[in-house]
Amino acid sequence: MRRDPEEAPEGYCESCGLPCIGVEYDEGIGPYEYFGSRGFHHDYVYRSNCCSALVLDSSPVCTECGKKEVYDCGLCFNCYVEEGAKC
Ligand SMILES: [Zn+2]
Ligand SMILES: [Zn+2]
Repeated sequence: MRRDPEEAPEGYCESCGLPCIGVEYDEGIGPYEYFGSRGFHHDYVYRSNCCSALVLDSSPVCTECGKKEVYDCGLCFNCYVEEGAKC
């Protein structure tokens, strides 16, 4: 056992911007040989379960208009300006 699957992070998909769950992927180079000693290289990363993209802590999508841009407060620049920077 390397990691508890219950530790899978929840976040937002960098690709589609929807809430997702991180799925563990092995991006290691696999078996290798280095000066006669063999090994197996693992590099575990979490990727979204929908698009296999990065899992972000906060949504990359504007909560107001759905545009894939976040300037501040979860809003894109236009909405942020229109909202009068309330936050
Ligand atoms: Zn996705
Ligand atoms: Zn917006």
